[in-house]
Amino acid sequence: MARNPAPRKSSTAPPRKRTAQPGYFHYCNVRPSTPRSFAPGVNADRASAINVLSDKWVNGTELSYYFFDKPGDGENLIMADGSTSFIRWSGATAQKDAVRAGFKAWSDLGIGLRFKEVPTREQAMIRIGFMRGDGSWSYVGRAILDIASDQRTMNFGWDIANDPTTAIHEIGHTLGFEHEHQNPFAGIVWDEEKVYADLAKPPNSWPRQKTFYNIIRKISESRVQGTTWDRDSVMHYPFAAGLIVEPPEYRTQALRPPGMLSARDKAYVKELYPPQKPVAAFPELKLMQSMPLKIAPGQQIDVRIQPTRSRVYEIRTFGIADTVIVLFEDVDGELKYRGGDDDSGEDRNAYLKLRMARGAKYVLRLRLYYADHTGETAVMWW
Ligand SMILES: [Zn+2]
Repeated sequence: MARNPAPRKSSTAPPRKRTAQPGYFHYCNVRPSTPRSFAPGVNADRASAINVLSDKWVNGTELSYYFFDKPGDGENLIMADGSTSFIRWSGATAQKDAVRAGFKAWSDLGIGLRFKEVPTREQAMIRIGFMRGDGSWSYVGRAILDIASDQRTMNFGWDIANDPTTAIHEIGHTLGFEHEHQNPFAGIVWDEEKVYADLAKPPNSWPRQKTFYNIIRKISESRVQGTTWDRDSVMHYPFAAGLIVEPPEYRTQALRPPGMLSARDKAYVKELYPPQKPVAAFPELKLMQSMPLKIAPGQQIDVRIQPTRSRVYEIRTFGIADTVIVLFEDVDGELKYRGGDDDSGEDRNAYLKLRMARGAKYVLRLRLYYADHTGETAVMWW
């Protein structure tokens, strides 16, 4: 059992005056991602199409996850008395099981993404810690690929053994979902000073900037699904009465989402990551033959590639389009990532140059963000 590593005040520190009541709910704080900026030539439609998908995974990706487990996995925290204390990232079995159940809740929907627990950090895309006192958080979507392999991409900062919601919510961020209460279409008007004051109290104890980023800030219209508000979403925080001024019913009553995947959460994740056909059903893309991209923005094509010689090959898209291409090798039925490129917002085409082996089987996945003229774009390997 991990000890509770929450930083404690030393007995010599002056007791902090506590006049305020603690805030009501313990909140996730999502890790900020770098906003995309586009060249002047990128028009609004194109930028918007890119924004919708830029954090999302190519469908069919297997997301590997790992729980930190080594004695050296952790961080030094500076305590109130100036001493430092090493806080471990590892978690007890019940905590890890709650996260495993969170992955299962998503995969039981039959989506095209798969999740696999792996024993080492080097193999993992999602790296999970249980650092008490550090809050619960995740990066959003593909941003986790930019995090160094000895660092966490997700943390659980409180006991989640009997809290299934937090794991489902944090995994939702990793799948590319933002906070639903920040949906600009929600029409929420906050009593902002009250929100800042509430979040400044324990258990969250957030500075204003963190509260702004996770609650007050509205997410760009192009980054949210649809044009309506889903107050039942698992990506929506609960709020005590009085923090929301509009809609007016929340002036006097709390907003409490059920804490489970809502009907729209389920529909949206299946639209974004629909169930996948078996690899054998994918069409084969033959060497030197271009395949026109007859797909709408947001859609994806998957093709098989089977080299007959071992050498370095090139794969490229043609035409004015923003695409992300990812190549996987089929190793005994498991698709291993071999390389990827994303040309969104740039005046070039998605391009890969890599070695492929004779007799090996590959799958190329291509997701279209945006095409200037449908039917005038293609993909080829040679
Ligand atoms: Zn969150």
